Amino acid sequence: MIIITNPIKKIYKKIKDYNQIIIARHVGPDPDAIASQIALRDSIRLTFPNKECYAVGSGVSKFKYFGLLDKIENEKYSNALLIVLDVPNLHRVDGIENLKYQEILKIDHHPAEDIKGEVDWTEEKACSTCQLIAELILNSPLKLDKKIASNLYLGIVSDSDRFLLSYTSLKTFQIIEALISKSKIDFPSLYTYLYERSLDEVKFQGYIAENLKVTENGLGYIIIPNEIIKKYNVDLATPSNLINNFNYIKEVIVWTFITEDIKSQSYKVSIRSHGPIINKTASNFHGGGHKYASGARLTSEEEINTFIAALDNDCLEYKRASISNIS
Ligand code: AMP
Repeated sequence: MIIITNPIKKIYKKIKDYNQIIIARHVGPDPDAIASQIALRDSIRLTFPNKECYAVGSGVSKFKYFGLLDKIENEKYSNALLIVLDVPNLHRVDGIENLKYQEILKIDHHPAEDIKGEVDWTEEKACSTCQLIAELILNSPLKLDKKIASNLYLGIVSDSDRFLLSYTSLKTFQIIEALISKSKIDFPSLYTYLYERSLDEVKFQGYIAENLKVTENGLGYIIIPNEIIKKYNVDLATPSNLINNFNYIKEVIVWTFITEDIKSQSYKVSIRSHGPIINKTASNFHGGGHKYASGARLTSEEEINTFIAALDNDCLEYKRASISNIS
């Protein structure tokens, strides 16, 4: 039995009330962001064939399996419902420039920030936005088909890191069970879409392992220059895709990849933790995210040093607190 969460009725009513619906998510999308966006769009289209419903933002070619995004002229829409998925801050919403929407409906699993939806379903303890969209569809008249279920399945698997991360819950497995039993998806055949990678990428992971520095306090960090990204024929998103593979290293409690981004003259930062809460430090460095999975942006070598020192201090404080809890 799936427990019905309250905002579902309100969300369904909003969707029913609007004829124009634009669905957006964060810049630099990951599988959870893209899959939740396309699954919700396709479910709304399937349920209400006469509504105009679009999924906007820049496409990512390696995620084209999930489905294509829509190219629309934002200026034309002034009566739309804007549905924002998987992002709490307005400046990180992709593809809504010049869009005059009537209301925002937000569904997200990040800690709340500046976006406040008319209807706002923010559930930090959900392992993924796809879990919330699946819960919405499974508990409302919104329709599900095999493709929608496959997208939601992959988004949940990806954002929970194959059910390893701490926000994986009983509800996650109940939803997975419902998706598989209702739509008969052949789930083992889907993993290639998430996990197939080039030999170059595997070698790049080896480069990171070889060059990761580890401090006494348990911070693992690496600064990846643009030449290395080019040498291994990978891209700026690759370090974030690989960072979860560095979980469960005995000597490391927080780890961060700091990657040079030539285009924006800054450094893209991914951070993970299996102890200290890191999103506070991330937010001090133009970033944010979850308690144990965050991102940031750095603009100078000086800032990189300050950032590394701050994370190292988070590790130190965490270790001290753990010791005093034991004694
Ligand atoms: P990533 O390491 O890119 O997978 O990001 C981890 C988490 O941090 C995701 O939930 C992102 O949405 C969030 N995040 C990444 N970069 C930023 C940023 N610059 N500002 C706020 N949140 C971010």
